[in-house]
Amino acid sequence: MRLTPLRVALLGLGSVGSEVARLLVSRRDELAARIGVPVELAGIAVRRPRPETHGLDPALFTLDPARLVARGDIDVVVELIGGIEPAKSLLTSGMEAGASVVTANKALIATDGAELHEIAHKHGVDLAYEAAVAGAVPLLRPLRESLAGDRVHRVAGIVNGTTNYILDRMTTSGGTFRTALAEAQRLGYAEADPTADVEGHDAAAKVAILARLAFGTRVSLDDVHCEGISAVTPADIAHAADENAVIKLLGVAERTDAGVSARVLPALVPADHPLAAVRGAYNGIFVEAEAAGELMFHGQGAGGAPTASAVLGDLVAVCRNRVAGTTEHHQPPAADLRLIPMDEVGARHCLSMLVTNRPGVLSEVAAAFGAHGVSLVTIRQDVLGAEATLTVTTETATDAAIGAVVKDLRSLESVRGLNRGIRIFGAGRGR
Ligand code: NAP
Repeated sequence: MRLTPLRVALLGLGSVGSEVARLLVSRRDELAARIGVPVELAGIAVRRPRPETHGLDPALFTLDPARLVARGDIDVVVELIGGIEPAKSLLTSGMEAGASVVTANKALIATDGAELHEIAHKHGVDLAYEAAVAGAVPLLRPLRESLAGDRVHRVAGIVNGTTNYILDRMTTSGGTFRTALAEAQRLGYAEADPTADVEGHDAAAKVAILARLAFGTRVSLDDVHCEGISAVTPADIAHAADENAVIKLLGVAERTDAGVSARVLPALVPADHPLAAVRGAYNGIFVEAEAAGELMFHGQGAGGAPTASAVLGDLVAVCRNRVAGTTEHHQPPAADLRLIPMDEVGARHCLSMLVTNRPGVLSEVAAAFGAHGVSLVTIRQDVLGAEATLTVTTETATDAAIGAVVKDLRSLESVRGLNRGIRIFGAGRGR
């Protein structure tokens, strides 16, 4: 039984890193009691010299992270730098030197997670990254451990707080995407360059990780179909309200008999669905499993302190393993389930169009849907003099079928304008 303190190398002292350092110091006794031995900070790697040490011993600071992780007496490397390099090389050399690693780096795990797992396995160390998906919300551990005996069919929800804040503000204030984004930036919910959030890339990285964990199959970032929210207009938000729904940016990882699909896209969420109640910058994730049924996880998906909570949770887990002389964070060998192309993915759709207000138009429009085997659920017509707006919702149809319907509608003389359409999020598989 080990009695000497466990030594932690911290890489990065930004929003999350500084909170982790603070908690490691201020909760020293509590952590020692939970782990069985004390945990001490052995070094803190930063990019440039800084006057602010957050009350930490200045002697711990180094500008040479590569040397810190490779020095051989480190038990756990906590990587909170972000990005692919040098984070990947640092984690790799840390594991090669015998350290377990904890990271919050979704981009790295989504891109190189499989390779890093292999390195961890080879060196008999842990690789933990609960904070990489949904910040403080415990999601990966329940998927990996609590649901290990079940069969997960779908993981779907709001995994990016920035876009949820923007869409929520557009819904409550009636403002444009630009106004809501500017407000999110002012409040610190969005970065100066918001591309990764608003174009769905951040959510796509999380969906790739979730799909891999939930279904035990290879899913890379490139396999995730990705649509962002920058084209969502106040008119789209108003249409959603007419349908008694709200627009949310959803990440969906789904397994059907046909294979696995992974996607990020704006969708209509019925107002009475629990995901519609996820407000502001919060995250909310629905997990549907065969025996467990529906589970919902809700909480703060970002921010220094909430993310540090998840990092510390991982740190305690890998430290306990270290004390016990075991490891736990290995995925079983990945399967190669078929990746379903987006064209084949089924969903209910909502389309609205501006049409000439004359007899027979409704049947022309309905015929375009019928020609591609798409059944209609509702049709609403709002007459505006010589023109009318038609809003149509469909039964479940593939993207390919809806694309063909849209092409036909555009060729109709009576259809004057057509919005790009939006999927409707529904209960149950394949919806
Ligand atoms: P951050 O505030 O930008 O902090 C990153 C820190 O790493 C900065 O202090 C930076 O130093 C330092 N750094 C960068 N390159 C370095 C290098 N080569 N060597 C040593 N230090 C280096 O980022 P963060 O928000 O804390 O995010 C850290 C990680 O957590 C990222 O992977 C992120 O995706 C993940 N995460 C963050 C959140 C969140 O809410 N913030 C939520 C979930 C996950 P300088 O200050 O000198 O640039």
